[in-house]
Amino acid sequence: MIKLHDLHFVPFIAESKITAAIDDLAKQLNQDLKDENPLFIGVLNGAFMFFSEVLKRFNHDCEVSFIKLSSYQGTQSTHQVNELIGLNEDVSGRTIVVLEDIIDTGNTIEVLYETLKNKECSDIKIATLFFKSEVYNKQIHIDYFGIEIPNRFIVGYGLDYNGLGRNLTEVYQLKRSNMTNLVLFGPPGAGKGTQAEVLKQKYNLIHISTGDVFRYNIKNATELGTLAKSYIDKGQLVPDEVTINMLNAEVDKNPEAKGFIFDGFPRTEAQADSLGDLLASKGSEVSAMVALEVDDEVLVERLLERGKTSGRPDDADEGVIRNRIKVYYDETAILKNYYQKEEKYFGVDGVGAIGEITDRLSQVIDKF
Ligand code: AMP
Repeated sequence: MIKLHDLHFVPFIAESKITAAIDDLAKQLNQDLKDENPLFIGVLNGAFMFFSEVLKRFNHDCEVSFIKLSSYQGTQSTHQVNELIGLNEDVSGRTIVVLEDIIDTGNTIEVLYETLKNKECSDIKIATLFFKSEVYNKQIHIDYFGIEIPNRFIVGYGLDYNGLGRNLTEVYQLKRSNMTNLVLFGPPGAGKGTQAEVLKQKYNLIHISTGDVFRYNIKNATELGTLAKSYIDKGQLVPDEVTINMLNAEVDKNPEAKGFIFDGFPRTEAQADSLGDLLASKGSEVSAMVALEVDDEVLVERLLERGKTSGRPDDADEGVIRNRIKVYYDETAILKNYYQKEEKYFGVDGVGAIGEITDRLSQVIDKF
């Protein structure tokens, strides 16, 4: 999360996705305009980054120019478009490509289009990096767009909030929710389930344990349960696609939630990416990963002990237990790094009395 002036923004579109969209867009321009010697007109200030990325990829003769015409003040479109400045070239008879950073209602592009048309260009093409097709209400055809986005206020990659944010290399959206979303992390037997039960009461959060949802489905012999059982019995991970779909459905069952405790999810990088996307679609994000750190031998001992009463076949067999711990180190532990990069990883000593451990976790959570 970042703060610009008084507002918080959360990650929305990764740079890699933007770059891929520009690659595609530039490919089309290269095909369509190879013999045209087009004049690319960048609409300042927002289009500067997009403009240079497109031009770097354009392989034929072309010229460039910039104009200015702003319609945004704050986070709401003002519906008032200022005058066009900066176009000194004679554009009559030329093929023009207008490069915009974003088109939403289309007010700006409409004024621009009419102005250029009056200057007798032979062809005017419109290209925009971001396109809010939902709110676009003009007739002018948008010839090329990079990424369609819902009606959100975004910053980064040239776009600003009152002057700030233009230099960000990925796009952020205005944070729309105050959810607290915790990933409770740690190897099997670390005490995630026990602590989640306490923490959900204390912080009024919804607890989702993917392991519990799978076990519920196994008990009720659902299709999902049958599918998951073979993996769970061996201590392996259920495939990402199945797990992610299930998790998304569980989250969507709680539209009013103040936040979630994710227990046993994510366990792979694909799951972590997908959780980020899901929360971003709600204008939120993972607040923190809180990890319970416990030695392996303590884990095995605890799980064997739990197996005497839990009724879980994967707790009853030491081989399966050791495999679950191995799978954790091979496939899941990398997520520590994933959240550390975002400065969201907090490790907590997971050995001691339940209340003591809750206190340690609370010290971290109270910061959010
Ligand atoms: P747990 O109750 O978290 O120990 O999970 C028990 C078993 O459910 C795991 O050993 C996996 O087979 C499966 N499982 C739970 N969560 C996930 C997940 N996020 N991804 C894949 N498999 C999972």
